[in-house]
Amino acid sequence: MPKLSDIEGVTLAERFELAACLQCGRCTGGCPMSIRSPLNSRKFLYESLIREDGEALLEREEVWDCTSCRTCSSRCPRELDPAMVMRAVRTVKIEGGRIPKTLMDAMESSLKHGNPWGRSRMKRTAWAEGITVNSIEEDAESERLWFVGCTPAYDPRAMGMAKALARIFEVAGVDYTTLGSEEVCCGSEMLRAGEEGLFEELSEVNKENFAELEFAEVVATSPHCMNTFIADYGLDIPVTHYTQLLAALAAEGKLPFGGESEEVKVAFHDPCYLGKQNSIYDAPRNVLKAVPGVELVEFARSRERSLCCEGGGGRMWIEGMGEGERNAQIRVRDAIEMGVDVIATACPFCLLTLEDAVKTTGSEGKIRIFDIAEIVVNSIDGSERSE
Ligand code: SF4
Ligand code: SF4
Repeated sequence: MPKLSDIEGVTLAERFELAACLQCGRCTGGCPMSIRSPLNSRKFLYESLIREDGEALLEREEVWDCTSCRTCSSRCPRELDPAMVMRAVRTVKIEGGRIPKTLMDAMESSLKHGNPWGRSRMKRTAWAEGITVNSIEEDAESERLWFVGCTPAYDPRAMGMAKALARIFEVAGVDYTTLGSEEVCCGSEMLRAGEEGLFEELSEVNKENFAELEFAEVVATSPHCMNTFIADYGLDIPVTHYTQLLAALAAEGKLPFGGESEEVKVAFHDPCYLGKQNSIYDAPRNVLKAVPGVELVEFARSRERSLCCEGGGGRMWIEGMGEGERNAQIRVRDAIEMGVDVIATACPFCLLTLEDAVKTTGSEGKIRIFDIAEIVVNSIDGSERSE
């Protein structure tokens, strides 16, 4: 069975310099999972120090509860990286075959089909049937590459994001292309789940595809794809999130919003990989402020203090979320108490976890969940947004 000390031939404590830990608990205090899960990063790091070589940590199942939000790492006064410690433990557990079955299935699907959802490679562009979507099959030369992402391409609800963006790009005259059926999973969630080898394989395919094309930037639907292109791919071209592109288009007056519309009170839920991890807070808000009829309000916990939806770190494919109220359910409850009509977000995982929370809290009819791209397209084309 692989050991933690097999990585780089040193103990976990040595590798991550954990002797510098003050045991102040700031990491655990900010962890979105520590209330409901045994996951306690401070204790976890302490145990890696007091046990001879920290190997006992491999027996701990709560590492799978980590959402990889990185709140712990961003709060540490000693600049330690508890999130990376969790990932390192996951990696060794995976090497020893100790991995949740549902996550293993998602990894096998990513390797075999290029997506974690168990869907056929051939169906990757099915979402685009009947609408105008540029693709390298017809047009390889474009100013930017739009990386659609697996969840917007395959999930019936998240597909609304992809369809909305295609429509916005069409009406705003955006010069873009997509990889069409050549696109494969970016590998972000596999890496965060600890499967570094699979990430390497997936990222190599995408990097080769990128290298064959000429474009000035990559724009991603998902903050998770965007983040891994920035943090892990080492690309030498700019990578942006679609909300940044829409904010620029709105500022230039290139989004043909509809006229007067009914006032809708909207609260924006900051996705961790957009906000906390990449400091993109204003672009999504600027897009929402530009939409006629939208009254933007803020959650008490927003921006840097935003509540993680629990969908990151491979958790979309891990069953069981611990005891008690989930963060997405808290979000929905908070929004209803604030008298909000719509929670807007800008990430396919947030969209799905929040939609699920509306159902599990019996809140249908009290609140609605939309992606920002859907809100924009609904204003452009007229819609059910305010119904
Ligand atoms: S915040 Fe940093 S120093 Fe404080 S307990 Fe956590 S890892 Fe240790
Ligand atoms: S990355 Fe997020 S979920 Fe994981 S231990 Fe740190 S704060 Fe908790």
